Order: sequence, then C-alpha cells, then structure tokens
Amino acid sequence: MNYNSTRDKSRVVTASQAIAQGISEEGGLFVPQEFPKYSLEEIKAMCELDYRGRAKKIMGDFLGDFTAEEISESVDSAYTAEKFGSDNPSPISYIENGNTKMAVLELWHGPTCAFKDMALQILPHLLTKSVKKAYNGKEAVILVATSGDTGKAALEGFKDVDGVKIMVFYPVDGVSPMQKRQMATQKGNNVNVAAIKGNFDDAQTGVKKIFTNADIDMVKEGKIEAGENVNVAVPTGNFGNILAAFYAMNMGLPVKKFICASNSNNVLTDFIKTGTYDKMRKFYTTMSPSMDILVSSNLERLLYHMTGENAEKVAGFMKALSSEGKYTVDEDVKAKLDKYFWGGFCDDENTQKTIKDLYENENYLCDTHTAVAVKVYQQYVSETGDNTPVILASTASPYKFAQSVLTAVTDEKLPEDEFAMVDELSAKTKTAIPAPLAELKNAEVRFTFECEVDEMPKAVLDSLGIKA
Ligand SMILES: *Cc1c(COP(=O)(O)O)cnc(C)c1O
Repeated sequence: MNYNSTRDKSRVVTASQAIAQGISEEGGLFVPQEFPKYSLEEIKAMCELDYRGRAKKIMGDFLGDFTAEEISESVDSAYTAEKFGSDNPSPISYIENGNTKMAVLELWHGPTCAFKDMALQILPHLLTKSVKKAYNGKEAVILVATSGDTGKAALEGFKDVDGVKIMVFYPVDGVSPMQKRQMATQKGNNVNVAAIKGNFDDAQTGVKKIFTNADIDMVKEGKIEAGENVNVAVPTGNFGNILAAFYAMNMGLPVKKFICASNSNNVLTDFIKTGTYDKMRKFYTTMSPSMDILVSSNLERLLYHMTGENAEKVAGFMKALSSEGKYTVDEDVKAKLDKYFWGGFCDDENTQKTIKDLYENENYLCDTHTAVAVKVYQQYVSETGDNTPVILASTASPYKFAQSVLTAVTDEKLPEDEFAMVDELSAKTKTAIPAPLAELKNAEVRFTFECEVDEMPKAVLDSLGIKA
C-alpha cells in the first residue's frame, strides 16, 4: 500500500515516508492509492474484536511497510485504559431527542479530552518508527497549527518522545480559556508553544509555508445489524474526522449520508450546497472554536478521490483558492457530493439552546461542538425525513468549554474564574470533571510567547536554536 500526493500523482511514497514527511513538497497531502476492502463477513469478524484488535487489523492494512510487531506495539502503547479511562476508548451513549435517535460516539475520553487524542496518541509511535525507516533516525521537528484541540493533543502525544521536537502555534484570541491553559502548562523538555496574532487559517497557512520552505533544513513530517446502512454526523472544521468516516465507507462500512455540521463559519455548508468553495467571507470567533476554520485542509483529499484521482485538477482548485479565494467543482463532483454529503450549520444561539435541550430533556451534557452536530442532524431529519440510524461524533468534553456550556444550562450569574465555572458545572449537572482538566488548576504556566503571523518561521528557528 503506497500513497500519492493530491497535487502530483507522480509522487509516490510508502506509509512511513508519508508519515515522516507529513506534507508533500509541492504542498499536496498524501492519500492512500487504494483502500483495503472488507466484506460484510470481515466487518462482522472485526465487531468481535476489541478496539485495539480492530485498530491493529485496519492500520496493518494501511501501513504497508510496518511489521505486525511494530503495529501491535504502537497500538498497545497508545490506546491504554490508563490513558482513555477504560478498555473501550470511545464509548457510545444512546440518546433520543424529539424526533431523533442518536448513537453518540464519544471520542473525547483521552488525555486531552478531545477527539484528536484518537490520532495523536498513536502518531508518535508511528512517527518515531517511520523516521527510523525513512530518514535513518534523524531528529524530527513537528510543527502544529491548532484551533485549540490539536495543539494540546499533539503536545501530550509527543512530550519527551526521543528524537522529536514539537512547536505549536495557536490563534491568540481563538481558543477557549481551558484550551489555552492546557497548552500554556504543557510539560516536557522538547515542547514549545506560541500564540500568533491572527486566526487559525493564518496559523495553518504559516505552518504549511514553513514545511514547504526549502530554506529550513529539517525533517518534515490519519445498535444496528451488521450490513445495515448508517448515517454519520460530524462537527466539522478541517474535515479530518468526517474524511476518516468517508474512508471507512470506501473500505466497506455501509454509510448512506455524511452530515457535515459547521458553526457560523459555514464555508463547507455552502460548498456542499452549491459546489463553490468561497473562503472570502467574514471569519467568526464562535463558542465552538475548534471549527473556526475557513480553509478546510482535508477537503483537498476528498476532492482528489471525487475527481477520480485527478491531481492536476486538485492542484488547480487549490491554486485558485489561494489566488482568487474560491473555486467551483465540476458537475460530476457536485453530483458525488450530493450523493454522499449533506451540509448544515448552527450559530452560537442555537448551539446553546441545543445543549440546554439535551441536558434538560435527556440528561445528557455535551460540549459546544457536539451540540452543533446534534442541531444540524435534527435539521437534516426534519428536512429529509431520513431516519436511518445515525452515529454522531462527539468530539470534546463539555468541561473544555465550561463557560458556554454553563451559560446554556443555568440562568444564574457565572463565577469569573474558569475553574470556579468548572466546579459549578460539575455541581449543577452532577457530572465528573475529567482528571486531566482538574489537574490544570494548579499547573505551572510555562509558555506565554506571542508573535505576529509573519514571525512564525523565525519563532521556529529560535526555538530550535538555529540562527536564520
Ligand atoms: C478538531 C475538532 C473538530 C473538527 O474536526 P475536523 O477533523 O477538523 O473537521 C470538532 N470538534 C472538536 C472538539 C475538535 O477539536
């Protein structure tokens, strides 16, 4: 199993090269050349395995140049009960609300209380092995642009990992107080964190530029019957989580519709409805900050698959996006989008109403991102009447966004301090504060550095002790 770049099909790399390199030199993203296909019988057999067993099977099929031992060791060290609270890292809660029934897949029981842990707990194990294979064990430098949750999950995954340094950039006014504190207090001798005076898109563009900047010499760096259709609803920002579900369909999971839920930054909703991706619009800072994104990076991967792997076409779209701020896909791609995707969005007011409604009527407390998906899913059901069983991705603990969640469930005046809000949310809802968040209250703040967007390359070099 090898990987292609979305922007140049002649670039073919192995799994370990793709992981170690991270992004293709011409700016494209790596995608699998083909998908392993599972029959219904094989899927049923996988249902009998536990999470780690399934992870080993599926990763084994994607990571062609890894041995079974390497995969097994990586999976067993990543998805431990110690890190994820139990032997099932992603438990499901079944909720009925109004005319909808949902299987809420909770992906936030890892060390940073957001779904990024599902990938970033295993990535360090895969990366160190990949760097050994692909680059003879040179030191790897990981640069991260985050809208809040990726940064902490990456820092936690890579802290004190031998042969790796990591630097995270986050938008100074674009993350929740808890997210900021999680990053500022990060432990580890190989970590660095900087706030940039810009939004997430600035951070992501800045990091991608550094990666593809040849001047910087560094190593660069994924209750139903078996066979029954399901819908999948995902609160979406950079299109990673929902793309993973789309890949699962390509591998044999019977999915009917992917419901792509956005907040007021509804660039994806419009794209799915019209076929035109237009980033030239107002950027909103919302209460679901991990989805405050106008340039949704992984959409490029979907386009690659939907254009019949036409890298030239994808490169053209991406060029138009960066020079004109928009592009329009052809009719056949639009038809494929219509077949598989449905897009909707939910503003802050409705996000809070949804949190309140679910809490008061179903006794289920969810975070702001998950609430966006619930609301958009409910819109989907009322517009289409499609009651196919749904798996709804719940992406963060409500305690990461305590102020917004508390405001939704109480009419009383809020305390000012973040941790007082956390305590009050716990007292009011009789739910437990996740231990990794409770511990932050007394953790030492280590990182307060802020810089302008155009100072990002210098910040990286300074952090590595390299003179520009
Ligand atoms: C990252 C994130 C999202 C968006 O996921 P993408 O893969 O970027 O679409 C949604 N919710 C939370 C809590 C997140 O951290």
